[in-house]
Amino acid sequence: MVSPLSALLLFLLLLLQTQNSFQEKRERMVKQSIEARGISDKAVLKAMRTVERHLFVPPDQVAYAYEDNPLPIGSGQTISQPYMVAYMTEVIRPKPHMKVLEIGTGNGYQAAVLAEIVQQVYTIEIIPELGESAARRLKQLGYENVEVKVGNGYHGWEEHAPFEAIVVTAAAEAVPPPLVAQLKEGGRMVIPVGPQNGTQTLLLLEKRKGKVTTQKLLPVLFVPFTGGDKK
Ligand code: SAH
Repeated sequence: MVSPLSALLLFLLLLLQTQNSFQEKRERMVKQSIEARGISDKAVLKAMRTVERHLFVPPDQVAYAYEDNPLPIGSGQTISQPYMVAYMTEVIRPKPHMKVLEIGTGNGYQAAVLAEIVQQVYTIEIIPELGESAARRLKQLGYENVEVKVGNGYHGWEEHAPFEAIVVTAAAEAVPPPLVAQLKEGGRMVIPVGPQNGTQTLLLLEKRKGKVTTQKLLPVLFVPFTGGDKK
């Protein structure tokens, strides 16, 4: 007969083992897919090692949570590839004092990674179910410095502007002008731009002395930025 106490101990042991194996997998992912590919910002690497990506994917995708791929999250959307999340986070040069706007919350993974580093994250998701469940998840996980809004990110988030950085995680046909306007002097915006099913380019915009410069970073494939300029 197994006593209730030993059953409980066995259960806790198994739970601990599962946690450890997630941690090992995450460590391996960061080393092999992120550090080895050139991401070197210490704070970004630490955030990628900390955020438990398996808690941001649907149950049937948990086994793949630490492979360096985007995964389906329902509503036809995806959770971004870990390398891309790390890359976009590094590119904005995140610092502890910063206020960052993200467009395209999805399940909230990128928002959590940003929230590990910067002071405040504002994130907007156009699909209500995704935005609402991301808000619940982030709250449950204790991220008190993330605010989620359901709406069209095209217009940014006027009340909280300007932002030191803006991270757009859906591919727009062109850079939405309101986002450029809400970028602070010295600020940086990273955004995929291009056709829905063709090659898109990840762009880095920088605002200096009121002027905006644009740099092409890499070819990418993101889900489309929807909603046009509708309010
Ligand atoms: N940042 C997410 C990526 C989610 S995929 C992550 O960390 O994994 C991009 C998301 O952008 C999708 O959930 C999609 O619904 C959302 N999106 C598309 N167009 C949008 C818009 N105009 N405003 C806000 N969100 C948008």
